[in-house]
Amino acid sequence: MFPVSQQVRWLVDCDSFYASCEVYLNPKLRWLPVCIWWDIVIARSYEAKAYGIKVGTPIREAKKLLPDNAVYMKPNMTKYWQISAALMSYLHEKCLGVEVFSIDEAFFEITKYDQIYHMSYPRIANALKRDIKKKIWIPVSIGLAPTRLLCKIFADIHKPYGEHVALSPQQIDLTLQELPLADIPFIWPQTQKKLTHKCTTAYDFKALRYEYVRDLLGKNGVKIWLELNCINAMNFANKKKPRSINRTRSFNPDFVTAKSAVWSRLSDNIDKACEHLLDVQMATKYIALHFRTKEFKRFGVELKLPQATNNKMQITKIAKELFDSIKFGEIVFRTTGIYLWDLIDATHIQSSLFDAPHHNIQKSKLNEILYKINKKYWRWTIRLWELGGVQKKNDLFEMVV
Ligand SMILES: [Mg+2]
Repeated sequence: MFPVSQQVRWLVDCDSFYASCEVYLNPKLRWLPVCIWWDIVIARSYEAKAYGIKVGTPIREAKKLLPDNAVYMKPNMTKYWQISAALMSYLHEKCLGVEVFSIDEAFFEITKYDQIYHMSYPRIANALKRDIKKKIWIPVSIGLAPTRLLCKIFADIHKPYGEHVALSPQQIDLTLQELPLADIPFIWPQTQKKLTHKCTTAYDFKALRYEYVRDLLGKNGVKIWLELNCINAMNFANKKKPRSINRTRSFNPDFVTAKSAVWSRLSDNIDKACEHLLDVQMATKYIALHFRTKEFKRFGVELKLPQATNNKMQITKIAKELFDSIKFGEIVFRTTGIYLWDLIDATHIQSSLFDAPHHNIQKSKLNEILYKINKKYWRWTIRLWELGGVQKKNDLFEMVV
């Protein structure tokens, strides 16, 4: 009925990524229980996990369970994104068709790599894992399988710093027979409830009839069932094109009055929104800046553009002019953000009647180069002057628009 995947994929998934980054930044933390927290634990090292600390454990509870030598840290997302960019850049060099799934996970297709490298797939996985540890200093686990969901399941099996390869139907069935139903990604508790009388393992779910799964669970359940049956049904690279992009960040718990501090937070949102726009290859016709005060009052400014654009320099310049037009007074800010809407496909951008053609080409080329460099290394490798400085200016090249 459906074509069975003949492909070989792998998922590279960093082990306890935030905690591993902190160990990389400060090797003295190695072997210590490390908790990254923000009211609750958002990441922990395997040493902390051994004490029963889970993601989501309130920090007070964690402190009761952990020994005195445990280390508690607030997340440093800037650094984590830098390390993630280094890893993704390394992976792009090694393999074609990288699908970045999250800050610390990426899929690739590696069909026939065994013939190209004259090595078995388990040996390739092991060699890649060791090479990443040597060059990026972050431990990863790898899952090899015909479909993405199976890769994700297999990457979790021998964590940390493990790999699991199952490509033949027999190997896959043997692995799934050992896997509890609850351990299948994207099977939420309500779905589990519907299945409990029929299945206890992932293999039981895989062996159900297609029509039964379709009628009981609908489209999403079918996708999981297909992937378990080695049929490609999930593609994380082809995400739906959005109709709008919104980036908002709150100042909570520290409210802000200074105009420069508001711009600093807003500029970060503008940067991310522009990057998202270029990721999905769309262009915007409207730009709006929105704010919320400490008392939850909302206000904003917006502008309809004469032509749709995805040019970061242009969007930043307009956003800065809109921002400067606001009279601030004594407002205490809670959140700020940017909203881009009425998005169109970037290939449909019309050039301005009043710009010389070569000027337009130069601008779009510069935009593309900026995007590629920042994508390859880190999103602030080259930062627009208008967006303002960041904490460590030494790392950056600044650029005047
Ligand atoms: Mg991970």
